[in-house]
Amino acid sequence: NKINYADITISAVSPSQYPKEGLPEIVLAGRSNVGKSSFINTMVNRKNLARTSGQPGKTRTLNFFNIENELFFVDVPGYGYAKASNAEQEKWGRMMEDYFSSREELILGILLVDFRHEPSEHDILMYDFYKHFNVPVYVIATKSDKIKKSKHNKHESIIKKALDIDPEDKFFTFSSFTREGRGNVWDALSAHLLK
Ligand code: GDP
Repeated sequence: NKINYADITISAVSPSQYPKEGLPEIVLAGRSNVGKSSFINTMVNRKNLARTSGQPGKTRTLNFFNIENELFFVDVPGYGYAKASNAEQEKWGRMMEDYFSSREELILGILLVDFRHEPSEHDILMYDFYKHFNVPVYVIATKSDKIKKSKHNKHESIIKKALDIDPEDKFFTFSSFTREGRGNVWDALSAHLLK
């Protein structure tokens, strides 16, 4: 799980700009402020590869991060940003449809949810969006350091139930502060890539 190479290849505004390497792609989605940038940075052991949210919801691009020339993390702009206009939300939707309906490199969707809270309507829609396109999903519950161990099972059940999670999909707890879950997620991703 030591990462030697990780860099942003492109912030794509249109499909013509998607990378042409043909590497497997893992999409990362979650509401603004869920800890997605921190997740990416922790996974690749960088402080600032993915910018932590200065301007939540502002970007309308897919950010492709090349990891070890083996895979791309595809960072989707955070959703559920209260101030996003309808026009902006529509653009977001179109970008997602464009990507999901045609991208053969896509092998896995990661949905980041806050371990402390019941998933929002947006989280549920995002999970259903993945399932609509038949994408296997890892649900990653962030900020697990904020929840006492004795409450972990309870929070896990609440999240799985709210999402009506497919038994084939995996669930992880994760903390970018303690790095809990990093090894488990990499082990699962590595196994998934070999399939
Ligand atoms: P993004 O908007 O989803 O990219 O979220 P960020 O990675 O920028 O994180 C949003 C906020 O949550 C920041 O204040 C982070 O310090 C905090 N945060 C991120 N990960 C964790 C975590 O694992 N534990 C705790 N306690 N806070 C976190």
